[in-house]
Amino acid sequence: MLFGRNKKNPIKLVDKGVVEWRYTTCGYCSTGCSIEVGLDQTGTAVASRGVADADVNRGKLCIKGILEHELFRKTAGRGDKPLLRDYRHETFREVSWDAALDKTTAEIKRIQETYGRDAFSIVSTGQIMTEEFYTLGKLARGVMGTNNYDGNTTLCMASAASGYKRSFGSDGPPGCYEDFDHTDCLIAFGSNLPEQHPVIYWRLKEALEKRKFPVIVVDPRVTMFAQMADMHLAITPGTDVVLLNAMAHVILKEGLHKQDYIDAHCADFEAFKTEIERWDPYTASQQCGVDEDTIRNVARLYAKAPKAMSIWTMGINQSTHGSDGVVAINNLNLITGNIGKPGSSSLSITGQCNAMGTREWSSCSGLPGYRVLEKEKDREEISKFWNVDPEFFPKKRGMFMTDILPAIETGQIKGLWLVATNPMTSMPNTSRIRKTLEKLEFLVVQDAYSDVETNQYSHVFLPAAVWAEKEGCFTNTERRVNLIRNVMPPNGESKPDLWIFNALAKRLADGKGPSFPETAEAVFEEMKVLSKGEDRILDISGMSYAKIEAQRGMQWPCREGDETGAQRLYTDGKFQHPDGKAKLIPLAFVDNNERPDDEYPFWLNSGRVVEHFHTRTRTGKVGNANKFSPTPYMEMNPDAAAEVGVSHGGYARLTSKRGEAVVMVQLTQRVSRNMVFIPFHFHDCVNRLTLGLLDPHSRQPAYKQCSVRIEPAADQVAAAAANAAARAY
Ligand code: SF4
Repeated sequence: MLFGRNKKNPIKLVDKGVVEWRYTTCGYCSTGCSIEVGLDQTGTAVASRGVADADVNRGKLCIKGILEHELFRKTAGRGDKPLLRDYRHETFREVSWDAALDKTTAEIKRIQETYGRDAFSIVSTGQIMTEEFYTLGKLARGVMGTNNYDGNTTLCMASAASGYKRSFGSDGPPGCYEDFDHTDCLIAFGSNLPEQHPVIYWRLKEALEKRKFPVIVVDPRVTMFAQMADMHLAITPGTDVVLLNAMAHVILKEGLHKQDYIDAHCADFEAFKTEIERWDPYTASQQCGVDEDTIRNVARLYAKAPKAMSIWTMGINQSTHGSDGVVAINNLNLITGNIGKPGSSSLSITGQCNAMGTREWSSCSGLPGYRVLEKEKDREEISKFWNVDPEFFPKKRGMFMTDILPAIETGQIKGLWLVATNPMTSMPNTSRIRKTLEKLEFLVVQDAYSDVETNQYSHVFLPAAVWAEKEGCFTNTERRVNLIRNVMPPNGESKPDLWIFNALAKRLADGKGPSFPETAEAVFEEMKVLSKGEDRILDISGMSYAKIEAQRGMQWPCREGDETGAQRLYTDGKFQHPDGKAKLIPLAFVDNNERPDDEYPFWLNSGRVVEHFHTRTRTGKVGNANKFSPTPYMEMNPDAAAEVGVSHGGYARLTSKRGEAVVMVQLTQRVSRNMVFIPFHFHDCVNRLTLGLLDPHSRQPAYKQCSVRIEPAADQVAAAAANAAARAY
């Protein structure tokens, strides 16, 4: 029955009194959505909306982006004044910027003079601007000279970067979102796109509505993405390399590979073929849990598709075989000729808004612009450009973040500077991290929020501006450099990270060494000079702030004189290894991780929910995001729950060999009988339990694979008491 249309109330949007919309880029995930923030007559940020003519998001935003203007509100926990305490357990006192920076400078100098330059270490982030990363790198490598400098991107994207370097000779995702519009087959490994990257998912859905092609999701859990896929392969955690080797086995055995492409563009095919011979689908199915017929069908589907592509996120990266998993995906795409063509790609879906920027320009893994410490030519170039003695640079990269924290335990590292990262919540094995931070002689925390858990252990807190309270660039998943225009002035006395780095550089350099431009745009112009060159893949010399804003982002490489950037890498089949070829790398598989046993019979898996971002430093304070997802919970299979006596909406205590945590139970068929899932965003929760064994190449922790036992917990009071006791443990 039709109701009278005229009588229906039209949908009305609340008028928020916006008088001006300001262009910028979303500061959460790496999708890179162009966003406008609406200001009312008083200059208060009251609304956010997607930019319609931006190619990435075409007017769309996810829930986090829609609420992003709320970050400018003066919420509890926003840092607005520098804080200092002389002893760790004293209460903070507010101090001037000079006092906080002088204290930090004095402690850095004291520790480096007493114990050596590498005894003071820096761990940064994927959250600040690329220009800020470049400046911090110059300060760390060119002034302080510590080799123990890394980013928290080791926790999320290190395996992708490592796998790209091993296969192609350089970091840098080869594909782009537009590949969805051309591909004939897509496999997603360990990526729950609708919840993690909703706008990229929408781009995929849009492509599928125009032109149907098979979508295959490989994930141990029946995620939202798995539910919409044509095929879901519920793989045993951590065994993606086994599945991918078996797919390669089928492709080679049945002659479905592209021999011409392999001959022209790949090295080491014979060694690869010998290893792959061992991985017949039956043997592989015993380890990876995917039956042999399905392995054969998927391998044929992928290899026979005229254009096929693979995407992945943390399900691959956060594993003891993370880097190998990425190499295995690259192997698959190389033998099927699926690199560098529209619709044919290996495309890692990045986590943080500027995890790419730190990989490109921060000097964490070496020197800026994908240069490395191990090459004399790279050291010479940068030392000349920065006015630094080339011998000041180490000849090999130092520790990763996941090695820096254990080096504090052993006394090798005495001082630490954390920039927009929160290891008390993000690192595996919380109890161990707490004890580690307590061992430091000096800890400085630089963050937009003074209530980040890690700040409880600091001596100095430096309040930083958040996101669009400053200016600069982020690089997104598809190598697109986007501009963040300043929308609001920084909160209280907080300062842009660039200002903080420059202020410390002045104090630490004593007028010697490199120069430090003051504005983000001047830093960008300096980076452009360094990026230029025919042999440089990461060339941004054809970009400018004005062009980036006008085009709503530009992809690199974009060489001097180019009107716009290149959508894809390796279109000519020339790779970055010295011989110009990609490497086909044979991958053995050693099952070295913790697995369920009689005492700890459940797999523990972790991941994200759409409302929150990382450790909830920001989204934990944003009204509706926090209301929709206020508390940690555990997904558990109803049959398993009945066996251990746990009920829906009740509480359960999880115990691993590291510690215990109590969470609310949500019964669902999304997880199998021997697996549970907990979102990773909450403090004192899943990372109390995780083991986090490290990948040997990328040093990324295997967050998603450990084992636990589960028992009922009485109520919320018991839950709080147990968690408090666990904190003291
Ligand atoms: Fe921001 Fe990512 Fe959401 Fe886009 S998808 S609005 S970039 S959080």
